[in-house]
Amino acid sequence: MKIAKLIREKAKEYRDYTTECLSEMVKIPSVSCAEEQVVLKIKELLEKAGVKDVHIDGLGNLIARVGRGPKILAIDAHIDTVDTGDESQWELTPFSGLIKEGYVHGRGAVDQEGGAASMVTAARILTELNYDGDYSIYFTFTVMEEDCDGMCWEYLINEEKLVPDFALITEPTNLGLYRGHRGRMEVELYFKGLSAHGSAPERGENVIYSGARVALEIEKLNRRLKTDEFLGKGTITPTLFRTASPSLCAIPDQAWMHIDRRLTWGETKESAVGELAQFCGDDVRIEVPEYDNPSYKGRVYKIEKYFPTWKIPEDHPLVQAGVRTHQQLFGAAPRIDKWTFSTNGVSICGRHGIPCIGFGPGNEVYAHAPNEKVPVDHLEKAAAFYALLPWILEL
Ligand SMILES: [Zn+2]
Repeated sequence: MKIAKLIREKAKEYRDYTTECLSEMVKIPSVSCAEEQVVLKIKELLEKAGVKDVHIDGLGNLIARVGRGPKILAIDAHIDTVDTGDESQWELTPFSGLIKEGYVHGRGAVDQEGGAASMVTAARILTELNYDGDYSIYFTFTVMEEDCDGMCWEYLINEEKLVPDFALITEPTNLGLYRGHRGRMEVELYFKGLSAHGSAPERGENVIYSGARVALEIEKLNRRLKTDEFLGKGTITPTLFRTASPSLCAIPDQAWMHIDRRLTWGETKESAVGELAQFCGDDVRIEVPEYDNPSYKGRVYKIEKYFPTWKIPEDHPLVQAGVRTHQQLFGAAPRIDKWTFSTNGVSICGRHGIPCIGFGPGNEVYAHAPNEKVPVDHLEKAAAFYALLPWILEL
């Protein structure tokens, strides 16, 4: 296939360019809700690369379009990162962006500015090839994913009316082709007791005992949660328990428990809340919290912290287009798998049913870990994959 060969050559020619783009991004800290400087940097890179249609939306997402076809393919990277953690565990400073021995180093290299850098190169290649096929290709560089996965896409779909036919997520897959992951939700339990003097505990109702009873039920529930052959098992665990009492010599009368729930296929917000209601008494209020942090532009876009499970079948045309893209470029079928963690797919496919696949540079074991680094080889290959996929989708 001529176009595959051409794209492979261009991605190779731009290998150093992609690497430099990533290094520049990594050098700019961009934790969730404070991504403005990296957004402006990527905008500048895209404009220098000749991409004409580039804009920032009301939330702060950066959107670049190549092609004018009637169908829409979105290629997405979130460009916020988590914080550095304990810096003494880093061998280099977290924002070094150092290019050394075939790797780019630093926070965000894997999760997931590497995908973003490869997208910039793909947009450049498609622009230079004057792509004018069936697709309008939207390269989306989205914000706040680490804080609230998918919220940026709720905004794009509901407010910007960007509704793709297909989406490709560029989170790290170690160059495997992914087609789903478990969903997740957060739950808060509020316990109500009765305070009394600590010297006479029998007069009160101690929320530590009710919290402990519920925690032990959660432990049992976790063991019996169901499994999906592809996505794995649903899980539940308390992650925080806090109490309040009038004094250290009093029975605590209020408590708050935070729960991390991972949802496998067939599990929903309703089913998960229903399970908790079976052993939480009237003294416990169950709530799914809302996310309401303002974006770097000051925009608050409230959504429930419920992130639905998604997967698409292996024989889906989008997965098969991904397989053929990989075959054309690298001469072999890709490994087909799923992510352990959650991505913007919870909105695109989980809430809106838009088919998604994933293909990204880097190994997810480095995500959120010290000494994050991504192989330059992966960046080159991902850039080629993103540039070829729209062509393959037309066949
Ligand atoms: Zn990520």
